[in-house]
Amino acid sequence: MEYEWIRSARKTMSLEVKQDGKVIVRTPMRCGRARVERFVREKQDWIIRVQQEMEQKVKEREERKENLPQWTREDYEHHQRLAGEVLQQRAAYFAQRMGVDYGRISVRDQKTRWGSCSAKGNLNFNWRLILAPEQVLDYVVVHELAHRREMNHSKRFWALVEAVLPDYQSRRRWLKENGDLLMSR
Ligand SMILES: [Zn+2]
Repeated sequence: MEYEWIRSARKTMSLEVKQDGKVIVRTPMRCGRARVERFVREKQDWIIRVQQEMEQKVKEREERKENLPQWTREDYEHHQRLAGEVLQQRAAYFAQRMGVDYGRISVRDQKTRWGSCSAKGNLNFNWRLILAPEQVLDYVVVHELAHRREMNHSKRFWALVEAVLPDYQSRRRWLKENGDLLMSR
């Protein structure tokens, strides 16, 4: 079985199966190859089961993509306009709660990003956020507004996000798992 082996200053061994089925083994620094091999062999059944589940998920997502109903140009325009209105509203609301300001808000047609915050404080958002649950849209808004305080993804940055949205991790995970379906619009 193929796997990636990452050694670090930790005490225990752990296994992770990525969405693409890749296996990652994390071990303490002083851990020999034989022990890692044995560890992976012992967990082999579990790994295979998770890999199969991942594969199934990918297949289901592909099917969902193919089944998206066709949209007309009016459909796109309607959703883009709506996205602009909602994002303006949510940004104003959360900025006040967080005690930050911002410059201009642009709603864009991007295929890779959900949002960004420029050094000048202008915010860009992807209009497809309107297709996500509102909790997820809010998460992206709060994320970008938190960059008004911290222009990085440090612990301090995530603490700012968490102070407003204690469950931000599950919102973020939703975007990771379903984002590509939204992007296929
Ligand atoms: Zn960020």
